[in-house]
Amino acid sequence: MKIICIGRNYAEHAKELNNAVPAEPVFFMKPDTALLIRNRPFYYPEFTSDLHYECELVLRICKLGRHISEKFAHTYYDAIGIGIDFTARDLQQKAKEKGLPWEKAKSFDFSAPVSRFVPVSEFKDLNNIRFSLQLNGQTVQEGNSRDMIFSFDAIISYISKFVTLRTGDYVFTGTPAGVGPVKIGDKLEAYLESQKLLNFEIK
Ligand code: MG
Repeated sequence: MKIICIGRNYAEHAKELNNAVPAEPVFFMKPDTALLIRNRPFYYPEFTSDLHYECELVLRICKLGRHISEKFAHTYYDAIGIGIDFTARDLQQKAKEKGLPWEKAKSFDFSAPVSRFVPVSEFKDLNNIRFSLQLNGQTVQEGNSRDMIFSFDAIISYISKFVTLRTGDYVFTGTPAGVGPVKIGDKLEAYLESQKLLNFEIK
């Protein structure tokens, strides 16, 4: 499986990192070795000193597809979870300055903690899903899918023009404002609506 991540999908977050609001989706990928599941602890890597959390809604792909039209995109994902797009901000900044790819900063081992998934049928309105992240008990990020620049369906349609989506792939849909650093000993808890789905420690 693969993990596809959308960047800059919330205007307030694009602003906080001094990025322009994009005219079309920006995406990058993490390999399957980036997955961290079952609330296992995350071990702070030695190659960064500025590791940031980015809390995001995650779609689970349920059908093979390419060149998917926006109209039918909703039939290609069947569940939503919550994930953290861990980012070595110092390495990403260096890569950006040199115009180099982001993989070292974004795609390293265990850089994608993902919760269990909730079936799409359990949500009343996919364009109004609340989620939030707490760092050591303090809320640091609050988002709602209605604030996305590109909707779930627009994202699926766009990605599938370039990359075939397969059953079991995950799509990270972008982070709202409030990203920041973590340190060893921190506790992260993420909520999808009122359900706590992520709860793990930085070691
Ligand atoms: Mg992200």
